[in-house]
Amino acid sequence: MPRTARITISRPALRHNLQHVRTLAPAARAWAVVKADAYGHGLEALLPVLDAADGLALVEFDRAQWLREYGWRKPILMLEGAFEPADVELAARIGLSLTVHEPRQIDWLSAVPPHNGLDIHLKLNSGMNRLGFAAAEYRAAWQRLRALQSVTDITLMTHFANADLADGVSQALAVFDQVMQGLGGERSLANSAAIIDWPAAHRDWVRPGIMLYGASPFGSRSAASLGLEPVMRFESRLIGRQRLAAGDAVGYGSTFVADRPMSIGIVACGYADGYPRHAPTGTPIAVCGVRTRTIGRVSMDMLAIDLEPVPQAVVGSPVELWGEQVPVDEVAASAGTVGYELTCAIAPRVLRHVTDDGTR
Ligand SMILES: *Cc1c(COP(=O)(O)O)cnc(C)c1O
Repeated sequence: MPRTARITISRPALRHNLQHVRTLAPAARAWAVVKADAYGHGLEALLPVLDAADGLALVEFDRAQWLREYGWRKPILMLEGAFEPADVELAARIGLSLTVHEPRQIDWLSAVPPHNGLDIHLKLNSGMNRLGFAAAEYRAAWQRLRALQSVTDITLMTHFANADLADGVSQALAVFDQVMQGLGGERSLANSAAIIDWPAAHRDWVRPGIMLYGASPFGSRSAASLGLEPVMRFESRLIGRQRLAAGDAVGYGSTFVADRPMSIGIVACGYADGYPRHAPTGTPIAVCGVRTRTIGRVSMDMLAIDLEPVPQAVVGSPVELWGEQVPVDEVAASAGTVGYELTCAIAPRVLRHVTDDGTR
């Protein structure tokens, strides 16, 4: 019998979230951001729905090549651009749009034969100080690219460091607009947080990631309050029950000690499945559709939960680690991280299931 830890991926939820992007940014085209195997959701199963996007954006060249072999014909944008000259050749051969964020990548482009029609997204560092040309260097880079016959289009691009914070884009947006003054070409700036909060940043192409998967880009606003539906449900079952007396401890390190008699359940899911080990006692979890809390330390294959609010729970009862009853963002907040990290960390041994209707 397989272990019971599994994820269920809802294609209708993805469709809804993509439609929500269209509603928020009706005039822009949308790159669906699918790096890290669609934030851990599994890209292949999502492609029939993502076909409604205008293109896919990711960072892994092997995956881009797989997409072309699989039959994806729409644009593909490489968000970190080429890592070596061979990537430029591949991009020219199979038609990948390339981000350019540093001079060496322009050197590589110069070596490509002139008939290849490359589509370039030239990245400005607008304050994040991760990738991109500084404001003072940007126009020179643009001119170098413009002079290359192999380059047909240059989209003007940046990425916000603080779009999830109050007034988090105005400074970066001002830098962007100042640097781009008089330059032709389309504009691409907005991630999920900017799509939701900063219509002035929508421009020609938006780049939604986390919101497509139904998690929140904001620390303090729930995905549900943003009109998003969770695409991933992570669930397992109870494989044990214990009755504790006052003073009994639970798990490695005995970090939880019962202060009264209580029932606990043992769930077949641990950090080797992708559940965060740092989730402390009190992290929300649901059993039999009732919310309760984890207790003690998460171990490799198991974790313990409080069954006091759920007396009907028995060995075999269904447990939701995250999904509709327990938003992934709540588990993430409890564990001191973000929903992005949790969905990306689902382990290979977890069973995967895809649904096209409400049933699981
Ligand atoms: C990952 C990424 C995005 C998507 O960000 P979300 O916060 O998930 O919407 C957009 N643009 C770039 C350059 C990225 O790397």
